[in-house]
Amino acid sequence: MKKTVLITGASRGIGRECAALFCKNGYNVAANYLNSEKEINELVREYPDILPVRADVSDAEQVKSMFDKISNQFGDVDVLINNAGIALEKLFTETEKDEWDRLFGVNVDGVFNCSREAAKIMIHNHKGKIINISSMWGVCGASCEVAYSATKAAVIGFTKALAKELGPSGINVNCITPGIIDTDMNRNINSDIMQELISETPLQTIGKSRDIAETALFLASDSADFITGQIIGVNGGFLI
Ligand code: NAP
Repeated sequence: MKKTVLITGASRGIGRECAALFCKNGYNVAANYLNSEKEINELVREYPDILPVRADVSDAEQVKSMFDKISNQFGDVDVLINNAGIALEKLFTETEKDEWDRLFGVNVDGVFNCSREAAKIMIHNHKGKIINISSMWGVCGASCEVAYSATKAAVIGFTKALAKELGPSGINVNCITPGIIDTDMNRNINSDIMQELISETPLQTIGKSRDIAETALFLASDSADFITGQIIGVNGGFLI
C-alpha cells in the first residue's frame, strides 16, 4: 500500500525537492505551502498526483484543517517532514520582538503543531516517521542569526525528547541539520561571503536541495527503522 507523506514548506527549495522525490518514489504526497501559489501550481502541473495544502504552520487551527484535508484524500499520514522555515539575518540588538516571535511561530510552533497532529495518528497506528529539518546553525550558532539559531536548536531538543516519548509507540523521530544549501533562503548572501563559506567546507561546495531530500527519503524508509533521536548533519563537512 502507498505511504502518505506530508511535507511542510513544499512550494520552494528543499521542501519542493522532497515533494518531487517522494512522489517519484511512490508516496502519496501532501505538499504544504503558504504564499507561493504560482510555485505550488507549477509543482502540481509537473506531478499531478501531489495534493497541495495551504496552511500557515504556525496556526494550530489551520494545521488541523490541513490534516483533515489530507485524511479525506489519502487517509493517515505515515511520514511527516517538518521543513517549513524562515530565516532572519540581523544583529541581535536590532532584532525586534515581533520578528523573534514570528521566527519561533513558524520554525518551532510549526513543528509542534504538525508533529502533534501527526503523533495522534501515528500512536494509533503504532508506526510513523517524523523528520525535522533544523540547521547546522542550531548546533553551533551563527553570528547575526541568533533568533534563527535559537529556533533551530529548539528543534534539535524537540527531536531528542519526542524520540524518547514516541519510541515505545513505534514512531521514529529524527532531525537533519543541513549546511549551506542552494535555495532562495541564501539568495542574499553576497558572493565574497559565499566564496568564504565554500572554502571553509571540506568538500569545497555548497549543497543542493537534493542532498537533503535523499537523506529524508532514507530516514522515511524501512531501512532507517532502527534510527531514532538522531541529528544528522548534511553539510559537506562544514561542521565536524
Ligand atoms: P526556502 O527556499 O526559503 O523555502 C521555505 C519554504 O517554507 C517555502 O515553501 C515557504 O512557503 C515555506 N514556509 C515559510 N513559512 C511558512 C509557514 N508559516 N507555513 C507554511 N509554509 C511556510 O527555504 P529552504 O532553504 O528550502 O529551507 C527549508 C528548511 O531548511 C527551513 O526550515 C530552513 O530553515 C532549513 N535550512 C535551510 C538551509 C539552507 O541553506 N537553505 C540550511 C539549513 C536549514 P511559501 O513560499 O509558500 O510561503
